[in-house]
Amino acid sequence: MNELQIIEKLKTEQTATRDELVFLLNNITDSGRETLRRAAQETAQAVFGNKIYIRGLIEISSVCKNDCLYCGLRRSNQNAVRYRLTEEQILDCCAKGYALGFRTFVLQGGEDGYFTDEVVCGVVREIKSRYPDCAVTLSLGERGEESFKKLFDAGADRYLLRHETADLEHYAKLHPPNMSGEERQRQLFALKAIGFQTGAGFMVGSPYQTAENLADDLLFLKRLSPQMCGIGPFIPHKDTQFRDYSQGSLTLTLTLLSVIRLMHPRVLLPATTALGTIHPKGRELGILHGANVVMPNLSPVEHRKDYAIYDNKICNGEEAAECLACLKRRIQSIGYEIVTDRGDAPAAGFQYN
Ligand code: SAH
Repeated sequence: MNELQIIEKLKTEQTATRDELVFLLNNITDSGRETLRRAAQETAQAVFGNKIYIRGLIEISSVCKNDCLYCGLRRSNQNAVRYRLTEEQILDCCAKGYALGFRTFVLQGGEDGYFTDEVVCGVVREIKSRYPDCAVTLSLGERGEESFKKLFDAGADRYLLRHETADLEHYAKLHPPNMSGEERQRQLFALKAIGFQTGAGFMVGSPYQTAENLADDLLFLKRLSPQMCGIGPFIPHKDTQFRDYSQGSLTLTLTLLSVIRLMHPRVLLPATTALGTIHPKGRELGILHGANVVMPNLSPVEHRKDYAIYDNKICNGEEAAECLACLKRRIQSIGYEIVTDRGDAPAAGFQYN
């Protein structure tokens, strides 16, 4: 099959074989890319119109017990500045966000032992009781099925846990020996079974990644069928051993966003901060390639720079309101519109109107 036939198959069958995906990633031409982009944008618009969902990202802790080789917050990075937000600070971020029109709050952080089930459940309950019309998303790493159940029962709606790479050998090159790709994947299936709107995802251009790895990532997503999918370019952090590796490519990230949109027409697909970090128009380009979500930062400005998972992360100095105003302008400039909406995973046949 040539590139156009593969793109057509992705559009009509929402899948392709591993060989076809590898071929497409290795051989796609500029004109093939534009065909793919247009198909992905049309698919997103058929479901979501020109509406973009916003999620208020609250980075609750830079403390982490893990040692992921690529991450600036890895335990062994002595230069990382560690902070954790109090419950009051988290609720304060939500209050500001609610006033700005956010109806989803994403609590993300390192795997910080302070945030026990009791603590997180307490925060989730309080957010849900103050803002019953809002969704709460958690992104706090691998906590295990028992913990996930408690968080779900406390009212959390969604959980983001990127699988990082579906290939177990590749996973082992990016993580210390005490972490396993198999376990991460198991936890993702557990999240789905519990009833969370579940998000998986991976970095594009991480060290040692091959086109075959990416094809396997796409096929893993097909098996899991998550409601959300976060992908962004790998960006080196100066205090990690991957400091001298090059960052993931803009073009490849955009191509993958489009392929994911075609394979999962209704998936919630963010144009990530990492994409906005490697190119001044990265997030706009992401939307034009099929993304339908952006996640502005609601974290207290004084801690922004310390949630440094990679270098040069954008929006470190701005208040939430400024961040949102800037994003609104950007999104309007490409003919889209931010909506005040929980933006849940749409059911089959859903059309935004
Ligand atoms: N501790 C949580 C949240 C991790 S941060 C968890 O384990 O899920 C969210 C995501 O940032 C990670 O899943 C990873 O894919 C991404 N990330 C980490 N370091 C990165 C880097 N150097 N470049 C690009 N993305 C990175």
